[in-house]
Amino acid sequence: MKYTTVVRADDKSSEIEKKIRDLITINYDEKNPDYVIAVGGDGTIIKASHQYPNAIIFGVHTGHLGFYANYSIDTLEDLINDINTSKFECQSIDLIQCELINGNKKRLIGNALNEVSIITPLKTLLLGVYVDGEFLETFRGTGLCVSTSFGSTAYNKSLNGAVVDTAISSIQLTEIAGINSNAYRTLASPLVLSSNRVIELTNNEINKSVHITVDHENVDIKDFTSIKISSSKNKIKMAYHKYEDHLKRIRRTFLK
Ligand code: NAP
Repeated sequence: MKYTTVVRADDKSSEIEKKIRDLITINYDEKNPDYVIAVGGDGTIIKASHQYPNAIIFGVHTGHLGFYANYSIDTLEDLINDINTSKFECQSIDLIQCELINGNKKRLIGNALNEVSIITPLKTLLLGVYVDGEFLETFRGTGLCVSTSFGSTAYNKSLNGAVVDTAISSIQLTEIAGINSNAYRTLASPLVLSSNRVIELTNNEINKSVHITVDHENVDIKDFTSIKISSSKNKIKMAYHKYEDHLKRIRRTFLK
């Protein structure tokens, strides 16, 4: 077994990483690691999962939110033992995929742990919203966010979306400043769906460019027929020593 590290750019995280590396006995391999130790917070864990989608992620939080982190500064001994002995538990986390459709061409934009969002910050975005091929509404506003259950506490929460139990496999559609008036009408509530559903956002305006975010990554897109968001067959594997219940995780992250 080989491991590598992904570290948040701050002194505390660098210091913790050095401590961990001094005590790990398996080989270090940045190119082809089986294990990735992400030292920092959720941002670091998400970046590690994008960089090494097939490795097992050990998230260590060093003082920030660390919603995804299963290890902390106080449980470094467990982390070192788990890695050196290869004895730990693993949780599989669902991803959503974002595909761009242009006529009969399809292109994968990326897989998200937290969310995919489609935004036009300066102009009104106009999109047809379909679920499993069924028309739901025409959205007008700044954007739409589609989040996973784990991502429901991230950007989705700031948009007043529902916090979803991570034991439920869901995708949630939330509006970003939707326009609602006598002229335009949208659901104007977060819509929590089974993760088996497929959300398709159709482009009603030729030549309009939109900004798509897939977690921390982003891209500007023009010339598309629709954007399809659905459950990905890929999953992220997160290691843990002791299972932490979702409610405890919420309390630790938001309420203490
Ligand atoms: P970032 O600085 O890495 O993350 C922004 C904040 O979101 C950090 O405090 C991070 O926690 C927290 N976070 C990330 N995933 C979370 C989750 N599942 N539950 C609870 N908190 C979570 O920002 P970035 O690199 O631009 O983007 C990464 C993520 O940040 C995006 O996927 C998006 O969800 C979130 N974001 C939120 C807003 C908003 O709420 N208005 C805006 C932009 C992006 P740590 O401090 O532990 O890293």
